[in-house]
Amino acid sequence: MSSTNEPGYDGRLVAGVDVGGTKTLVVVTDDLDRVLHERAAPTDRSSLVDQIAVLVDDARRHLGQDIAAVGVAIPGHVDPGDGSVSMAVNLGITSLPLGSMLHSELGVPIFVEHDARAAAFWVSEQVAGSTQAPASIAFLAIGTGISAGIVLDGAVLRGDNSFAGEVGHTIADPEGVVCACGLRGCLETIAAGPGIARQADEAIAAGRDTVLSPHPSAGDVFRAASAGDEVALEITGRVADHLTRAIRSLALTTGIKRIVIGGGVAAAGPALLEPIRSRIRRECADSPLVQATLGDASIELLSPTEAPGARGAAAIARHRIGLREREGVGER
Ligand SMILES: [Zn+2]
Repeated sequence: MSSTNEPGYDGRLVAGVDVGGTKTLVVVTDDLDRVLHERAAPTDRSSLVDQIAVLVDDARRHLGQDIAAVGVAIPGHVDPGDGSVSMAVNLGITSLPLGSMLHSELGVPIFVEHDARAAAFWVSEQVAGSTQAPASIAFLAIGTGISAGIVLDGAVLRGDNSFAGEVGHTIADPEGVVCACGLRGCLETIAAGPGIARQADEAIAAGRDTVLSPHPSAGDVFRAASAGDEVALEITGRVADHLTRAIRSLALTTGIKRIVIGGGVAAAGPALLEPIRSRIRRECADSPLVQATLGDASIELLSPTEAPGARGAAAIARHRIGLREREGVGER
């Protein structure tokens, strides 16, 4: 996959599957990226492969039509070459040859991609479709963890180690708590959903005066902040500080000026976005460098009704089978 706007699909159907910590979503799309089928089920961690195969088979039966290829978006470390997944801690996967197992079950080409990268691919296609230019975007997924999918000059960025974009594990607070990855003070221990909830619980345990009840969701904390709760405002302010730094680092490292924020925490809407935008405006006023880097940048939220992981997985599958046909590359 090297470009987001290759022509030449022939109207067959592809399925895109987004495997999340709580929910697995399948969509089937046509060559114009229209959704013909969509179904979600609670993720069955004990039999992921069977569950995906059943969901795709159900879609085939429901549509009465063959599916030419399946894309799968999944968190963790993904080798898009052989479709294997490792270190997907939130799914309890240490190592899984997902691509080859699904290929045996379904008998069609399978393309596995990191979920934030799949989402970034789809979002960049939407942007490219409206501007007719290869887009550079970062899709910042904030949910149980944090990672960025990066499309640079139209190409999905993976890097030699396939860890490109894992900004959730850059260190935000060297004195902070230990992250699931083993490092201390990673960005996601502060600004992802569980980290936001943990900070609220710490404030409650310390006897701080707040409207929050124990074990709140990230959404509860943002709602309390919008209502003026001081503890919640302190936490969401800290979250905005760290996300602003991450966005600035992304922009300075990659040259990207379009950042789209998605994932479960993005459902907080303006309560998440506006504090980030106001910090960037302040930095632009203080620093000619930030002004030059981010002064005309677009930082937006993806609507929570969109399913960028599944749509991106389907778009990748469609794109890759198109490439194979044009280049005469054999199927795995
Ligand atoms: Zn970490």
